[in-house]
Amino acid sequence: MKAPLLMRALSSEVNLHILSILKSGAFNPRELARILQKDETDISRRLKMLERAGLVEGKWMRIGKKNVKVYSLKVDEIKISFKPTEVIIKTITDESYQIPMFDRKVPNVNVFFGRRAEIEEITSTTARVIFIYGIAGIGKTTLIAKIFNNAFWYQMSELDSFDYLTWQFGLYLNTLGYSLLLDYLRSGGKNERDISELILDGMETTKAEIVIDDIHKCPDNRIIQLFTYLAPRLQKARLVIISREKINLGLKNVMYFHLKGLSAEDAYQLLRYRGIKIRPEKFAEVYHITYGHPLMLLLFAETYKEGEIRIHNFLDFLFNEIYQKLKEDEKVMLQILSIFDEPLEYEEIKTLYKKKNVFTVLYSLVNKGIVEKRGEAYALHDLLKGFAKELVSIDEKEYYMKYINYLLGRKTAKAFIKAFQYAVKLRDEKKVKELIEIRLRKFKRVIQDFPDSYMQILDQIKDNPYVKGELGNIYFQKGLFNKALSLWLEVKDRVEGIHKADVLSSLVDVYIELNEFEKAEKYLKELKKLLTKTQDLEIQLWYYIQLTKFEYYKNNHKNALESAFKELEIVRKLGPYPELESLVLLHVGDIYIGMGMVREGIQYYSQALETAKAYNLTFSEHVSYMELTKAYFILKDYARAIEYGKKAVQYFIKIRNYRRAIDTLAYRCLSYVGLLKLEEAERDAKEMIKIAQTTNYPLAWAGYIFLGIIKESKGEKGDEYLNLGREKLREYPWLYESVMEEVSRVRRDYFDK
Ligand code: ADP
Repeated sequence: MKAPLLMRALSSEVNLHILSILKSGAFNPRELARILQKDETDISRRLKMLERAGLVEGKWMRIGKKNVKVYSLKVDEIKISFKPTEVIIKTITDESYQIPMFDRKVPNVNVFFGRRAEIEEITSTTARVIFIYGIAGIGKTTLIAKIFNNAFWYQMSELDSFDYLTWQFGLYLNTLGYSLLLDYLRSGGKNERDISELILDGMETTKAEIVIDDIHKCPDNRIIQLFTYLAPRLQKARLVIISREKINLGLKNVMYFHLKGLSAEDAYQLLRYRGIKIRPEKFAEVYHITYGHPLMLLLFAETYKEGEIRIHNFLDFLFNEIYQKLKEDEKVMLQILSIFDEPLEYEEIKTLYKKKNVFTVLYSLVNKGIVEKRGEAYALHDLLKGFAKELVSIDEKEYYMKYINYLLGRKTAKAFIKAFQYAVKLRDEKKVKELIEIRLRKFKRVIQDFPDSYMQILDQIKDNPYVKGELGNIYFQKGLFNKALSLWLEVKDRVEGIHKADVLSSLVDVYIELNEFEKAEKYLKELKKLLTKTQDLEIQLWYYIQLTKFEYYKNNHKNALESAFKELEIVRKLGPYPELESLVLLHVGDIYIGMGMVREGIQYYSQALETAKAYNLTFSEHVSYMELTKAYFILKDYARAIEYGKKAVQYFIKIRNYRRAIDTLAYRCLSYVGLLKLEEAERDAKEMIKIAQTTNYPLAWAGYIFLGIIKESKGEKGDEYLNLGREKLREYPWLYESVMEEVSRVRRDYFDK
């Protein structure tokens, strides 16, 4: 191992984060980039560097006709020992380690005065939740950052949403060794109750310490509900919430702390530190005006001239005084920072501020106490933003446009959403349309991963027809079919190009979902007409996806198969798109099974499995196991069915996808019956009943029927269970029939033996 390279690799926090994620399994750069919300090219470059440093190991896997590189962790720990004559670097395997989050860092506290009583009170409380509130600039952030300097720091903004926050929690808990929440989210899990429970479980198991800063900015009430849920339940973990206003999270286990100014003595020390020498009676006057407000004191120190203290509009006056004294470059920088809602990172500032002296100008503002460094970003204190905004003379539009282009270059979903927000701010409908096209082509997952953040922004210009189409996509994804439908019908003739294709294919999708095949066919034909005018692969793909589904539901298996192969061909032409590729492969498998060609079905399910494994698409991987369970059951290869069934059941229960867990459990249970392993079969049947009682998912009630049959096979009485099962499934006669058909299939086997 090369020591300098190793040290360089470890000095980057993004690299540390990659290493901590690899701890939970092998990953392909693409999926890693998705989890970390970073550009794939950047992640690949970093992985190669980590590989050269000997920290990770890349293996080529062959999937179909392509080679895919998959990375895993090579070492678990690094130990550096200092000896009189040398420094020894040793790597140790099989031990766990933690790293801090890079994205959400605790603000730096360089200078800190006083607050002894406050620190004592906060650190000695037995409440697991601390809610600290007080006016802007009073020192809340500084105090909490001083006390909880190892916590996970979450800075709330007006753009936040429940889905974004929970992903960040998932990533953070994953670095602490708790992967369930991240697994759940990656599989598309959305249930708020599940998420709250998983966060609670994860925080408690890892004894997490989380700080939420500026919660008063939170626009999503579900986040507040989450904290209200957590508050009385936390016992080992710690949650600290910072706010301008008091928000009620209940009484149990919460300490509410109202932060006031610094004591006179500490305020005096602060001024002295800033080089201000002031007579006691003058100081008394200053203290009387500021009440020990630290930010005001700092600004005062910046402007103080011997003997002069102005009282009216103290803060306004202070800020103007300071502003007059700034150099032109500093004024421009200040204005740039004031027109953006969120703190800007150094690279962003560099892009926006055209001149070369970025660093000097920025740090001169930091040293004057006007700009603060928060984690990796720089911001004007909220209290000063208002004043600064009034002085803005630069062209906002020019800066916003520049920022949008910069963000798009980052190629991440998060940056995309931010870019969209600025396009909306500018009310630039052309740009909005352009961004939606980018979303349709490049950021498909935004709709699944961050529907709430995206919707919040779209809602601001919901009269735009292109935006309506997008809102339809979100509603559809949330299962609100009729709402989606009415939006799409309204705009279908008002949008053009790829947008029109999206709306038409969505219409086909929703009508198939609603079992209205004639209407589905009508829009399928319209989509086909559009196809003749374009070479766009994306549009072709959408057409064939819908065509396959349509033919499959109409039981035209041969046509469905032909169309599915067309999909596969286009997907592969479009470049690496493993999520969709493995999905199409699964569909091909389904169609073959529908045609009674089980062996061919298995062949395609296995290909889907390989693709999913290579790209660490955990969800698709387990759906493949589920399908293989069913296929081997049909082939009466019960041992194999059980082998795959075990993997799928365990995973789906873990991520609380009970519908899929039950679908697999049913086949596994019957496979045990087929093998005469009645004890195991009974256990599965009981598990099904247990799930039925909490979820009421119809197929789960078949557990009673299975249990009755198992009891009878053992020579015990089973009718009671059989009757219960029949009763529960009375509303679903078709389901009852198909359950009985599968049962008789294994029973025949059983009696033959
Ligand atoms: P809030 O979070 O309440 O808005 P901050 O923590 O951001 O306030 O504090 C405002 C400013 O005052 C910051 O520049 C910070 O450095 C300074 N400050 C706050 N508390 C102290 C302290 N105890 N000692 C020195 N400086 C402080």
